[in-house]
Amino acid sequence: MLNLQTATQLPGALIKSVQRVAVNQPREKLDILIIDDDEQVRHLLFAVFKDRYACREAGSAEAALLLLGRQSFDLVISDVNMGGMSGLELLPHVHTLSPDSIVLMISGQNNIETAIEAQRAGAFDYILKPLDIPHVEAAVARALKQALLLQERRHYKDQLEKLLSERTAEVNRLANYDTLTGLPNRTLFEDRLEQAVAVAQRAGELLAVLFISLDQFQKVNDTLGHPCGDQLLRQLATRLRDCVTEGDTAARFAGDEFAVLLTHVKGAKDVVETIGAVRLALESPFDLEGQKIFATARVGVSLFPDDGQESRGLLKNAVSALYRAKNSESDHYCFYTEDMNAKVSKQFALETSLRDALDNHEFVLHYQPQLAVDSLKIIGVEALVRWQHPQLGLVPPVEFIQLAEESGLILRLGEWVLRTACRQNRLWQDQGFPAIRMAVNVSARQFQQRDLAETVFGILAETELAPQCLDLELTESSIMSNAPGAIDVFTRLKARGITISIDDFGTGFSSLSYLKRLPLDTLKIDQSFVRDVTTDPDDAALVMAIVTLAHNLRLRVVAEGVENEEQLRFLQLLRCDEVQGYLFSRPLPAAEMGALLALTPGELLTRAASAG
Ligand code: C2E
Ligand code: CA
Ligand code: CA
Repeated sequence: MLNLQTATQLPGALIKSVQRVAVNQPREKLDILIIDDDEQVRHLLFAVFKDRYACREAGSAEAALLLLGRQSFDLVISDVNMGGMSGLELLPHVHTLSPDSIVLMISGQNNIETAIEAQRAGAFDYILKPLDIPHVEAAVARALKQALLLQERRHYKDQLEKLLSERTAEVNRLANYDTLTGLPNRTLFEDRLEQAVAVAQRAGELLAVLFISLDQFQKVNDTLGHPCGDQLLRQLATRLRDCVTEGDTAARFAGDEFAVLLTHVKGAKDVVETIGAVRLALESPFDLEGQKIFATARVGVSLFPDDGQESRGLLKNAVSALYRAKNSESDHYCFYTEDMNAKVSKQFALETSLRDALDNHEFVLHYQPQLAVDSLKIIGVEALVRWQHPQLGLVPPVEFIQLAEESGLILRLGEWVLRTACRQNRLWQDQGFPAIRMAVNVSARQFQQRDLAETVFGILAETELAPQCLDLELTESSIMSNAPGAIDVFTRLKARGITISIDDFGTGFSSLSYLKRLPLDTLKIDQSFVRDVTTDPDDAALVMAIVTLAHNLRLRVVAEGVENEEQLRFLQLLRCDEVQGYLFSRPLPAAEMGALLALTPGELLTRAASAG
């Protein structure tokens, strides 16, 4: 509104009344920005208002913009005509930079057009030069009253919006979350499951739904009362929430029924891990009003896509798996399909018994001969670990090496393998067999240990084996897992005479320039290339290339997985250095391997041929 009236109220009293409405944060003084290129006018206004308000001055619209960028003002008093940007051009910028500011324009032009223009541009009032001070004071008071009213209105509007959004959130919470435990409820769980199914379908990923129910929850309610039952559920909810990672959902359906949604599942192992975490979460007692009780639970699991293509089917099948678990004497968890059950029980059995396997002396080493291609004499053996499980029988390394890596057991196991293999090699020499090389597999985790070289030296000293009789096999990825340390460790090992082989060569990633800098001795061509070397031209070309590359780098080449005469002949043609595989012998227990060492090459092949 354009207001050209003169003052009717005393500015001081008015300021008091308007300051009362400044409900946000009561401020010491209101802020005023005075803009005029005429120094005299500026100083005059400053002098008039400086005691009542916090005043700042600017000699141009540009200087004013700088100030407005840093601070907001309740009132901006601006001249219309200034050198450079005019007051009218400045106005829209004031409103963007300081939306709560009220603007008063001052001008010497006594014409209605400028006044209208100023109003259009959003000015609150228009004052004429020469300035009549009481008139200016009254206009300023009116403008400030307006400013404070606007600020108050905005404050209430903000509060109202905040209140509304809080209410909406509350309504949302009530609809989607369980009031007792604060976990997502069935509605939200089903919603998330539906979304997760859509995502997994597109990405070709697996999902798991775990349905969990406590054993004998009713008994807690009956004997200790409902408040204790509620406490148990709340504590269980907290523990369950800790069992799932971000992005996964733990929810309460009803009573003592909980559900967990696992996304980005890579395999049964991930699910088993979560079940293990749930079990662990139940291991410590619950404190119900000073009374400690132990709780157990049953879990039913369904997997997407195998056990259901959509959310309803997955839930139904998880529930039916739960009922099977409830009816079972032994199984606390059940997968929807029997096949999964068998797989997972075995995994569980392995995991729990692996911890004690070393102390129970359940590991054994088998040895597989490595022969020189030209003479077909045994020049080395590779030690391969097996687990003699009391119930499951002889377990191959593929089923437990990774588990041992994850649990850290591999460090102790690896040391045991190294010691046992070195001791065995020494024993064969003591029995009068010619000295051969013992190849031992070293896992990534072992290689990352700082003291690998010291451990190896210690074991060689302890078993009195010559370092030349030990070869360490590492995969490309193991080496890359400790690339910076590799040169140093290898150099120290090599200085003593220990040799180093790269295992499974061709399957991992390795940089050739990096390989060149490492003090290596042998490349072992992975058996997947050897398998089809006589039938697949691509594999033949690849094996040829690896042999050439290795020889250029002055490395020996060992071909693994040689199963027939044709493969052997081809490898002989390529001038591969050594071979290893079922054609000569499967990995054997130490005693049988000892018997093999006594055979001539001819006898060895005849024996292998008759063994099939
Ligand atoms: P690897 O080091 O590549 O060992 C060669 C694997 O190929 C052995 O399997 C061996 O039995 C098998 N093999 C040998 N000749 C033939 C053949 O002609 N045809 C076929 N199809 N296979 C053949 P194994 O003993 O089951 O070992 C599997 C893997 O487990 C090993 O692969 C190695 O990576 C790991 N491993 C074994 N023992 C140890 C150990 O003491 N420590 C570590 N860290 N890993 C080990
Ligand atoms: Ca190996
Ligand atoms: Ca290998």
